[in-house]
Amino acid sequence: MARMEEIGERDGWRCWLCDEEIDPSRSVNDDRGPSVDARMTDRKAKSKAKGKKKGAVDVPERIAHRSCNTGKGNVEAVIPWPDHLFVVDPSPIIATVDRLASKGGREVMARCPSRADADAAAAWLVDRVARLEPTLSVSSDVDEGGGQFLVALRADR
Ligand SMILES: [Zn+2]
Repeated sequence: MARMEEIGERDGWRCWLCDEEIDPSRSVNDDRGPSVDARMTDRKAKSKAKGKKKGAVDVPERIAHRSCNTGKGNVEAVIPWPDHLFVVDPSPIIATVDRLASKGGREVMARCPSRADADAAAAWLVDRVARLEPTLSVSSDVDEGGGQFLVALRADR
């Protein structure tokens, strides 16, 4: 229990998947109660495939709602893009952030029909990644091209 509290404090009692608050006083048997999720990511999947020993890779544990916990149903973790953002062809957030964390660089995350939509998506992404991967510092930029606006994330090194 002490461990869950430690992880919850570190993550600000916010679910790493749905980005909503978790009430630490709720029962761990409650769907909206707290649970510790071992992040299932590409990095982990790849190291498994190579037959590395478990624990050889950095797979941080994160606080999640019991119902969101990917370990419970072995569901692939997905960070949803919020409905209020108007984005076309959005990239999978976790996979991209994992690539940026390991290799750096810049990746286009989505296309938007207007500058305002792109700016909103760019701001949301930087904020969301700050909570998803606190050790990774990213910035975003918006490029106009072909009548649309491309939102990109760049890892700051
Ligand atoms: Zn959640």
